[in-house]
Amino acid sequence: MGEHRWFKVWIYISAFCLAMVVTVLLATTHKVFFGPQVVAAPTSDIVEPSPEPATPKVEHGFMYTADNSFSYRPTERVELADPSNYGERFTVDAYGQPLNHDYLAVLHETVWSASSAINTFQTHHPRDEDQSSYHTIIDRDGTVIYIVPPEKRAYGAGNSVFDGPSGPETAVTNSEFASSVNNFAYHISLVTPSDGQDNAPSHSGYTDAQYQSLAWLMAQTTIPEERITTHAAVDRSGSRQDPRSFNWAHFVEYLHQYPSRAA
Ligand SMILES: [Zn+2]
Repeated sequence: MGEHRWFKVWIYISAFCLAMVVTVLLATTHKVFFGPQVVAAPTSDIVEPSPEPATPKVEHGFMYTADNSFSYRPTERVELADPSNYGERFTVDAYGQPLNHDYLAVLHETVWSASSAINTFQTHHPRDEDQSSYHTIIDRDGTVIYIVPPEKRAYGAGNSVFDGPSGPETAVTNSEFASSVNNFAYHISLVTPSDGQDNAPSHSGYTDAQYQSLAWLMAQTTIPEERITTHAAVDRSGSRQDPRSFNWAHFVEYLHQYPSRAA
């Protein structure tokens, strides 16, 4: 084989390697940018198996910063709530005043199992007083379960106010109900340990996987650390203490491992 022939072989090998690198890069970026998808609720009971979309769409609403620079990645799944248990976010309040609060993350705990909570949220509730939901539940093993799309209003808190740096934040969206943070809240609930299935003021706390998944989830959003709060802190009914035994230091330690959230 002459020198010219070797050169041709070398060009073919180089081209092949380049093609492989491009393929791997495309696959990687595809995974990073098109992570969990929250799909629309089926409009009928008969659900046709839909083919994998050619161009997956990110339907995270405000959750678009997607900081995956820290290697942790939880298992994710979608278990959509019945549409009676959530609604649209209002742009004006019950008196016609514009609503433009920034998003607020509100942490809760789910005293029974994730599956019993999901059952409740997937049950059709025609009466206002029975309707409830969180956007997301984090199970004991760290699995992130998406229940209400983030752009929708979940019914996670009743009578509630967030004491923000520039004053109290709350919204009256129905004049028959107390004002609430629901209109701008993103509700996340951690599944309680088995020793917490009572009304005691504390329990053995949340798993390391739950703290890691919560930090990852927050790093996917535009919600700043100072706008992450608890149901206990925003509650004005005097009846909510959740999430009990939440270790802020532990959570914040994981959150700060994301470059976009570094202290
Ligand atoms: Zn709660």
